[in-house]
Amino acid sequence: MTSNNSYEYIDKASIGESLLCELCHDPFINPVVTQCGYTYCGACIEPKIRSGSQCPSRSCNQLMTTAHLKSNTSMSLTISILDNLKQKTQLEQQTTQLDQQKTKLEQQKTELGQQKIQLGQQKTKLEQQTTVLGQQKTEIELQKIKFEQQKAQLQWHEIKIDVIQSENQTQRNEAASIRKQITILQKEISKLKSAALWLCK
Ligand SMILES: [Zn+2]
Ligand SMILES: [Zn+2]
Repeated sequence: MTSNNSYEYIDKASIGESLLCELCHDPFINPVVTQCGYTYCGACIEPKIRSGSQCPSRSCNQLMTTAHLKSNTSMSLTISILDNLKQKTQLEQQTTQLDQQKTKLEQQKTELGQQKIQLGQQKTKLEQQTTVLGQQKTEIELQKIKFEQQKAQLQWHEIKIDVIQSENQTQRNEAASIRKQITILQKEISKLKSAALWLCK
């Protein structure tokens, strides 16, 4: 008979035979007890009642009817045992799920650790680039200062050239006035010569 039992058992082989249904070979679900003293799952015995079959118990030739079933007395204990098995199974499943979640979390932790290392490396690179940029900035500022100094020197040279040019102009003016004075003196000398010649006559 195919099982209608939806439970999964951790170690089915260790479950005592007294808890197994002879029809489906699984632990009892909603068990019923026959007048002849056997226990079966409710779902396993119900079709036999409907079809009017014989009782499946060994050496029992009774017709399988509801009258052949006992009102259950000791089964509450069995049910509590099965409930415990079910609980244990559910706990086992939860433990498995927790283990899987733990594994996932550990993988995520590893991935986060790797990302942290990568970010650290990027940070180091950025810091190195910042240092290089800082050095380049310093060099550019030094060159700027040198350029300013050269510019100041050039301006000073230009001023000097202006001074020299104006000095040259002054000297040219002086030379021109000296030439004028020489011309005047030459005229006076020729006048004096004429006067001297006139006196000698
Ligand atoms: Zn029977
Ligand atoms: Zn059964």
